[in-house]
Amino acid sequence: TAIDSDAFVFFGASGDLAYKKIFPALQAMIRRDGLDIPIIGVARSGWTIDQLRERARDSLEHNGGVDEAAFAKLSALLRYVDGDYNDATTYANLKIALKDSQRPLHYLAIPPSMFGPVAHGLAAANCTTNARVIVEKPFGRDLASAQALNRTLHEVFPESAIFRIDHYLGKEAVQNLLYFRFANSFLEPIWNRNHVASVQITMAENFGVQGRGAFYEEVGTIRDVVQNHLLQVLALLAMDAPVGQDAESMNAAKLQLFRAVRPLDPKDIVRGQFVGYRNEPGVAADSQVETFVALRLHVDTWRWAGVPFYIRAGKCLPVTASEVRVDLKPPPMDIFDRARAHEANYFRFRLSPEVVISTGARVKKPGGTMHGESIELVARHQLRREKSPYERLLSDALHGDEGLFTRDDCVEAAWRIVDPVLGDVDPVSFYEPGTWGPAAAAKIIVGNGGWHDPKAEEIAPC
Ligand code: NAP
Repeated sequence: TAIDSDAFVFFGASGDLAYKKIFPALQAMIRRDGLDIPIIGVARSGWTIDQLRERARDSLEHNGGVDEAAFAKLSALLRYVDGDYNDATTYANLKIALKDSQRPLHYLAIPPSMFGPVAHGLAAANCTTNARVIVEKPFGRDLASAQALNRTLHEVFPESAIFRIDHYLGKEAVQNLLYFRFANSFLEPIWNRNHVASVQITMAENFGVQGRGAFYEEVGTIRDVVQNHLLQVLALLAMDAPVGQDAESMNAAKLQLFRAVRPLDPKDIVRGQFVGYRNEPGVAADSQVETFVALRLHVDTWRWAGVPFYIRAGKCLPVTASEVRVDLKPPPMDIFDRARAHEANYFRFRLSPEVVISTGARVKKPGGTMHGESIELVARHQLRREKSPYERLLSDALHGDEGLFTRDDCVEAAWRIVDPVLGDVDPVSFYEPGTWGPAAAAKIIVGNGGWHDPKAEEIAPC
């Protein structure tokens, strides 16, 4: 079994991610698991340790609340190292702060362009022996840059010490998808081309770029959520059963699936941009960056040949919700409600904001005639004080558990799928905020019943 890390170093201590996610996760880890190791923030803000503590308190007040007892422990564990990441003295000072640590965990919550300099700075200052490293998304901006980033990290860290975060994998609903598929026997006989007509994955946000236009200009929807989160969901939906729940088995199953997905053809995607995006601060007046994408994937395996997998994601859509829908083929004969048979059966996995798994079925309406209605058999999870994705992932990395992190070959295989459609392969189509994207998105899905739009909120079952 893996040995726990004995210090937590986070680069980017003054950044947005630390503020929104890392301080709340650390407080939760102290409260739930009694985390009791030095927590060292590194930034170039010229702060004192008290300013870092103030920042932590402010972060907690705005992100879930302060637990005074846990915060007191967090304050006592916090250390601060100031300095630029291009400056060797920063790492020399970090080495001093790590004097009692044999096995630190370094978290790179910083711009990806700094991953290389920080990795080499750590190595030159002898801070990498028995160390682990967590790297944030985005992991590269195309296949070539992801390969280069892997090479850079491997110069310093062995693959077993690298933890690539995809926070989607830490979500309760995404874990439940994996569990539901492989803890039941009734799915497997129908989970294939003989019974599944098509699969849709939708990730909708009802807000725009929220002041992060300059960031979004470098990214776009495909890089921001498709290459990572949504292809991971696709893998969990479509892969063959892993031989065990260990990281190696999971990654082997995912890798095989990614390798079977045909790289995207420009004719299989529609890119959209919401009207008003070009007026956002930091966005070019003639920007061709997509804020919406709809695409069709082909999975060339015996299980899935001929079954289209659709992905749709975007900003300024009517709702904020993520959902998977697996449509089953209609019954072989339409004895009762001829027109409705095609929509009879499906599985729906609501990934957010609620965690719901449901099956669509037809039942008879009470009364004399053989008319029916569509209903859902629903399993709904009440999430109370479950671990947040960041709490779960940071704890796992401290314990050396790689199960929810993405391996080098998997991340490259996922880039290979989207690589041909990155950049401005075709012009974006515009859509009004509050709609389901450009009209052209419908052409991707012709013949499969159209897009199923997630509802805003789940209605409680009566
Ligand atoms: P950010 O707000 O720009 O913070 C970047 C941090 O890095 C700041 O603390 C900054 O210090 C520091 N930094 C940058 N260059 C430095 C240098 N040369 N020397 C010393 N410090 C330096 O970025 P972020 O939003 O936190 O994002 C960090 C990483 O997380 C990125 O990879 C991002 O893609 C990823 N991520 C962010 C979010 C999110 O919601 N924010 C979500 C998912 C993933 P100064 O403030 O002093 O410049």
